[in-house]
Amino acid sequence: MTDREGWMREDFERVGAWIESYFAHPEAYRVMPQIHPGEVVAALPPAAPELGVPFDEIMNDFERIILPATTHWNHPRFFAYFATSAAPAAIAAEALAATLDVKAMLWRTSPAATELEEVTMRWLGQLLDLPPQWTGIIYDTASIAGFTALAAAREALDLSIREEGMAGRSLPALRIYITAETHSHVEKAAIALGLGQRNVVRVPCDGVFRMNPAALRARIEADIGAGMKPVAVVATVGTTSTTSVDPVREIAQVAREYGVWLHVDAAYAGIAAIIPEFRALLDGVELADSLVVNPHKWMFVPMDCSALFVRDESIVRRAFSLVPEYLTTPEAAVNYMDYGLQLGRRFRALKLWFVLRHFGAQGIRQRLREHIALAQEFAEWVRAEPHWEVLAPHPLSVVCFRYAPPGLDESQLERLNAAIMHAVNATGEVFISHTKIDGRYTIRLAIGNLRTQRSDVEHAWRILQREVKPANSTVLH
Ligand code: PLP
Repeated sequence: MTDREGWMREDFERVGAWIESYFAHPEAYRVMPQIHPGEVVAALPPAAPELGVPFDEIMNDFERIILPATTHWNHPRFFAYFATSAAPAAIAAEALAATLDVKAMLWRTSPAATELEEVTMRWLGQLLDLPPQWTGIIYDTASIAGFTALAAAREALDLSIREEGMAGRSLPALRIYITAETHSHVEKAAIALGLGQRNVVRVPCDGVFRMNPAALRARIEADIGAGMKPVAVVATVGTTSTTSVDPVREIAQVAREYGVWLHVDAAYAGIAAIIPEFRALLDGVELADSLVVNPHKWMFVPMDCSALFVRDESIVRRAFSLVPEYLTTPEAAVNYMDYGLQLGRRFRALKLWFVLRHFGAQGIRQRLREHIALAQEFAEWVRAEPHWEVLAPHPLSVVCFRYAPPGLDESQLERLNAAIMHAVNATGEVFISHTKIDGRYTIRLAIGNLRTQRSDVEHAWRILQREVKPANSTVLH
């Protein structure tokens, strides 16, 4: 075997050493790069090389071109969106999965991948205290898991849409119920499933951004009265903007009454339910039809790993199973290609298994508790400082806040807070993001990285306070 094709121990040693120093020296990296669109393209040749180059040269260019243009999600001072992190044990598992490079579509193409997925999903389901008869399946993202759940909900209507399609048939409008806080992937799924964006109904929320079950009932009844057909309700546990938690039990009762599929999107917050005092987040989930949680969000598993749990896996199979002759097999076993659009699938269960075993449930719980406690402390600092305000309840590890000196109208406050956020991010020292709550521009600070310490959160708060003055003078004068 030549060097080019085979095992190159020194190359892996270089990568291993680089990973070690990456984690040891986060201060060497700007969290958000200082770069303009097009710079990476301009730094790279216009065509692929005709001749191979040594690994060292590729690594040198990785360090010279790719790293400075990377937003460092794995940085302890990354506080934007939902902050996440990849545990080194899971990074090692990713290298092993790539080494095996199985396509986990049929049991026989990957017995270990198939059965480890069954086992890790059972373990995760137990940690979340889900009904033991539910089935867990790993997808790449919560968006695809949600799409799959909604496709199953459409299939469960028995309208022969799988066979006949929807065009030219006198089908009723098929309705999906969400709120203004629901993640946008649900609307995308409605588009992809041919239900139409207009049939995604936004049910009003209460004062703290939770779906109002009475309003849900009223919308369903009105729709049925108008000859429409409710397909699914999507309740969110941990909404993207504020981490508000829809009242799943009450929503489930309404959904059941009208025979409507309930999908619970707990992509970020669901993992917290493995902490006994936070299990109430999933209260009533046993009445739902499907639930998604993302180990790649708040369980230290690198992108991508999203766990969909379903009450009745046979409906998902009914929606997606299609077996050409060349994929028939004699075994009576799970073939994961039957549960979605994809044929080939990555061996994602391996990194989940490594993480579950490396930390143990206690280790994961302890880190989540730390993140939640840090967020609570941060919210107190914000509240204690004149002119800063917290804009939403913060039950978990995300705080929504803004700087609101007296005498400014909403559009001035928006410009001021946007300027503060951009100035903070331009330092490269921390990365925060924003949303709008009830039309009000809101800065978000999310804590979810394994290596984030109290000192990192304190640093973020210092920079936020420091950047108020320059932002004030550029925006208001
Ligand atoms: N659901 C919620 C509540 C989210 O916050 C997000 C992303 O942040 C998603 C779904 C989509 O997640 P994914 O990137 O896994 O598709």
